[in-house]
Amino acid sequence: MKEEEENITIKRNLAESEQYDDSIKVILLGDSYVGKSSLINRLINNKFSDLSSTLSIEYHTYITSFNEYTLRMQIWDTAGQERFNSIITNYYKGTDVGIFLYSIDKEESFQNIEIWFKNLKDNNDNSLNILIGNKRDLENEKEGGRVVTYEKAEKFAEENQFYAFREISCKIKETYEVDNIYEIFDEIGKHFYEKYKEKKNKVETSVDMNYAVTDSMLNLGKKHRIKQENESKPKKKCC
Ligand code: GDP
Ligand code: MG
Repeated sequence: MKEEEENITIKRNLAESEQYDDSIKVILLGDSYVGKSSLINRLINNKFSDLSSTLSIEYHTYITSFNEYTLRMQIWDTAGQERFNSIITNYYKGTDVGIFLYSIDKEESFQNIEIWFKNLKDNNDNSLNILIGNKRDLENEKEGGRVVTYEKAEKFAEENQFYAFREISCKIKETYEVDNIYEIFDEIGKHFYEKYKEKKNKVETSVDMNYAVTDSMLNLGKKHRIKQENESKPKKKCC
């Protein structure tokens, strides 16, 4: 899929063999049943299905590019631990982006976002945080429809300095609620692309002005490779 916007060419869901400039850790947080695994299934496979519940923490890789910049997102999803609110500290460690999901038809799942948010902040205070209200397709159901208003969630996101807030649906293909899923990941990507460009500009200025250039600066622009076989992390890891 390609998209032109402000002269940035975005490519989504690239093959795993692509080289990349940055690799980031994205974690999904929220109560059971809000649609965390469905979000990944829609993002990566463009599918919605009844997923068998996963037995451990799973990693999924989503690769996207912005012009010459390629970003690899390692997306972590839990299975079941969230019910007991006992996700191990390792899950939070090194998080670059926290995605918090609630379901618009479950008040409690929204109230619990505060707890999920605190859990992440207690372990990691530097992440970019995104709030998502899922199951927007249930909006007009006579029974079991929306109970969490858009305004209330938006206010929470603003007050807590979330980077973005969106309502989505994983269910119905080719709706703007599904597009919102792709847009969230585009926004994350753009954020890291901007950071990358800033660093690159600094290096160029330093070189121009004969300032000291560090090793890490010199590595900018060199693509990393996906690690091969025994070097790579296992796809599944049991807690
Ligand atoms: P998780 O426990 O947070 O990973 O949630 P799942 O992805 O397993 O989804 C829980 C249930 O909600 C499943 O029955 C899904 O089919 C359903 N679900 C997920 N997303 C949506 C959505 O956008 N709309 C509707 N109506 N149901 C959804
Ligand atoms: Mg799940």
